[in-house]
Formats: sequence, C-alpha cells, structure tokens
Amino acid sequence: MLDRPVPSIAVLPAALAEGGWDGPFLVVVQTPQEFSRWLGDRSPGLKGIQVHGLLGNPEVWALAAQGTGQTPLDVILSDPATEFSALYRLVDVRLVRPIGVTIPARPGLLKALRLAASLQLWVRLLPGQPDAQALGELDEAMQFYLHDSMVQAPVEFFHSLLATFRGLSGGTLWDFLEEDPALFSHRGAAGQLVQPTDWVKTHLADLVEQGAECATCRWQPVCAGYFKSPDPTYDCGGVKDLLAGLEAAAQEITRDLAGQS
Ligand code: SF4
Repeated sequence: MLDRPVPSIAVLPAALAEGGWDGPFLVVVQTPQEFSRWLGDRSPGLKGIQVHGLLGNPEVWALAAQGTGQTPLDVILSDPATEFSALYRLVDVRLVRPIGVTIPARPGLLKALRLAASLQLWVRLLPGQPDAQALGELDEAMQFYLHDSMVQAPVEFFHSLLATFRGLSGGTLWDFLEEDPALFSHRGAAGQLVQPTDWVKTHLADLVEQGAECATCRWQPVCAGYFKSPDPTYDCGGVKDLLAGLEAAAQEITRDLAGQS
C-alpha cells in the first residue's frame, strides 16, 4: 500500500500534474499516453500512480514490465466480475515495481481478491455502502484474508483494522482506504479541492447532531461515519457484524500470541 502521507498528499488528474506540483502527489492516469508519460517520471513529489480503465490494455502492462521503478502503481477496478481475469497481466509487472489493486465491493470482489492475493499484489477493498450480496462477499473475503496462507501482501481495510483492534496502530476507515480529504486531497481540473480537508470531521459531527446511530455506535472511533456516506440512512447492521468479526479475530490472535509467550 502507498506510504502514509504526512501531512497530506494531493491526488491530481494527469493534465493538472503536468504543470508541476509543490509537495507530494499521486497522479491519476486514464490513457496509455498518460500512463507511459508518468511511468518514467522521476519527480521527487510523485508518490504513486492511480491507473483507471487500463487493465484491459495488454500493451500498457507489457510496458510496465520493462525496466524497474519504485513508484507504486494502484490499478483501480470498476467491475471486478468482468475484470478479475485480466489481473494476470500484472504478474510480470510485480517483479519490477510495486503494484496493487483497488477493488470496489461489487459482485466478483472475491474472485478478484483471490487472484490478486495469489499474485502477491497488495489490495485495497472499497466497501462503500455494501448491499446484502456485497456484504456476503466481504465476509468471505475477510475469512480468506484471516485464514488463507496465500495472503502475504496487505489487504486493506482488513489489515489496518486488525492492527487497530490489536492496539498496534490507530486511525479510521477513511485513513486506511485513502479517502480522508485531510490526508488525500483530490483536486479538480483547475487544482481546486474536490472536498474540504475537514470533510470527515464535519460529516461525523453532522450525523451526531442529526441523531444518527453513529452517536452511540461502538465502532465510531474506527469508522467515523464511513458507512453513512453518501446515504446517511444506510442500515449499518451488516457492516457492524463484519467489524465485530474482525475484532473477534484480533482478540483471538492476541490471546494465541500471549499463550505462546
Ligand atoms: S458503523 Fe454505521 S453507525 Fe457505526 S459509526 Fe459507522 S456509519 Fe456510524
């Protein structure tokens, strides 16, 4: 996963990044030309490349498998059910540069996760506001993450939540998923902020003020209202079960380790 930015990192459309940027940034590429341009960039501020819509282009990945590089590539999937089989294209790229995939919680998530893990790619699962089917796949994904020896690279958001539940780190889902504008400030074409940097704080405060269940939710310290966006009426019953399952696993690991020592 990309290094945690301190204090923040800008997420820039490729055309905007062409003008230079003062400070650390990720660049979003959507065409083979943009990909090729930024793959070879050595700007000290460039911390990663987010790749949208190019997984199906074999020429892009043949190019990425040539030479070596340290700039992490984050390959963003939009429809895991149809795209997962193309993840094989990344196998040679992984040998020469850091690379991972971002997978939305949609049908096909589990297939994409299994294949990504077998290729030893790091993974960022974006839960959004999962429906019943996506919740089922997320639960299976969590069991796979916890129990399958094939998983060697981090799978977010499970990885950071598990560490948090074990008292080894802190933060919220917004941080773990690189969706907190205070840490990852997405910019529009003209360089303007897409969301204010205090958006998460304001969002949670609004929910609490409006009497949403977040006010008394035991998961608020790690969730901060994540599952109430964009729809503040989303029913959190399923995701609370998911969080409880991960917390129970963390407690079991801690007990096992204490027993061994
Ligand atoms: S799990 Fe749901 S109710 Fe609890 S803090 Fe998160 S969004 Fe709010």
